[in-house]
Amino acid sequence: MLTSADLRPAPVPRNRTDPPALLGRDSAAAYRGLVADVAGRLAERFATVERPWTGAAPAALAPAVAAVDLDRPLESFEAAFDEVGGLYLDDAVWFHHPRYLAHLNCPVALPAVAAETVLAAVNTSVDTWDQSAGGTLIEQRLIDWTAGRIGLGPDADGVFTSGGTQSNLHALLLARDEAVEAVLLKHRIETGTPMRGVEVLPRLRFFASPHSHFSVVKAARLLGLGEDAVVTVPADDWFRMNPAALDAAIETCREQGNVPAAVVATAGTTDFGSVDPLGSIAEIAAAHRVWFHVDAAYGCGLLVSLAHRDLLAGVEAADSVTVDYHKSFFQPVSSSALLVRDRASLRHVTHHADYLNPAEGAVPNQVDKSLQTTRRFDALKLWMTLRTLGPDAVGAMFDRVCALADEAWDWLASDPRFEVAAPPSQLSTVLFRLAGADDDAHRRAREALAASGDGMVAATRVEGRIALKLTLLNPETVLDDVVPVLEALARHGKTAREAA
Ligand SMILES: *Cc1c(COP(=O)(O)O)cnc(C)c1O
Repeated sequence: MLTSADLRPAPVPRNRTDPPALLGRDSAAAYRGLVADVAGRLAERFATVERPWTGAAPAALAPAVAAVDLDRPLESFEAAFDEVGGLYLDDAVWFHHPRYLAHLNCPVALPAVAAETVLAAVNTSVDTWDQSAGGTLIEQRLIDWTAGRIGLGPDADGVFTSGGTQSNLHALLLARDEAVEAVLLKHRIETGTPMRGVEVLPRLRFFASPHSHFSVVKAARLLGLGEDAVVTVPADDWFRMNPAALDAAIETCREQGNVPAAVVATAGTTDFGSVDPLGSIAEIAAAHRVWFHVDAAYGCGLLVSLAHRDLLAGVEAADSVTVDYHKSFFQPVSSSALLVRDRASLRHVTHHADYLNPAEGAVPNQVDKSLQTTRRFDALKLWMTLRTLGPDAVGAMFDRVCALADEAWDWLASDPRFEVAAPPSQLSTVLFRLAGADDDAHRRAREALAASGDGMVAATRVEGRIALKLTLLNPETVLDDVVPVLEALARHGKTAREAA
């Protein structure tokens, strides 16, 4: 009879100079050497990389990755690291590069990168006290600190998540379950008969502006709501939700026999960096007794801003808030959190398992309020950043990229080869077009720029037409870095128009 060993390829003999397989008591010296070696090689790349990206196409990279025989290991870690250099690092996208101007990716705070090696090596899991101990306390202090910065009050709580998408899903799950509970209670009082929660789901509605993040629509789908669950509330010319329109939309929703379950305001829309008028929206949500969620995935850096904190006025009235530290707090992916005004609302995700977090337990178990079970100790990165750099330095970095966006907008507005496609952003995006170019010319110019490796910008649509977008999140980038990228785009645009 065949055994599982017969089915495996013969192992390649391991080299005696290899690092040991596991990190432990006997491999401490090897661990130190290995990490120092990797850091040295990476430092070399950071010091010398000349462009944000090579512009490699999938077809150019795929064959080499496909050709690797994962069942036959190489002779050493060094060989494997060399291999990954060719498969990945040579063509990686470098967010620290001053001409990377495309998406919401930031260069990372050095103390956070160092902390990342700690949390990977210790491998703490912040689901239960008995897998994390002090890790749970550190995460909880950061949750309390963030809730304090928001101004959520004495009953606030929250939990770190994998990102804004998960934080929004989590928030809207709480909103859904609060709304369903309220409807069931009312039904029982009024009719004396029970009703099932699933009967309510098709009637629930979320309200968000057209510029809210797509994860809101995704969340509605995942939460079992109907196709039309997200009601789009019109925005003004600055891409901010119109509060009067929100008020009217909630009225209409009620008249139709539906149930307004959550208002989602965005503090920093992904495309425009626009901040919905949180104070007015909070009042309307409160008047209608609807859950008020603020998606501050992008704008959370304002919490530590020295110049623009007032843009978040009203956020303190939220029932829940999404913050992405891996956007405007300069943290490595992933680092995000969901904060709530009332910790009791987190009960909607609590489940007690006998083997993990029994109900009669007397220690804090973060899994009680998380959608995840095993979970990274991402909080350590933010902790080390705050304890090393301090919040003002983080806020000053975010202020710097917002100021750069204003400089870039002014430059574009005054150059006849360009036209701005939106008013100046409240945060750090800039939308513009190449004068006289159609969608196709914009597409080609952007692709030509990426392929040249001279810089990277994003693209989106504004009022149906393609616009190019700078998302500025590198506080070390200056206008003199941005201008050559724009000059290159103008040249590529001209070539594209002439070819058409
Ligand atoms: C980026 C973003 C998200 C999603 O966050 P991830 O961390 O990418 O999951 C949600 N909302 C807004 C406004 C965002 O900009």
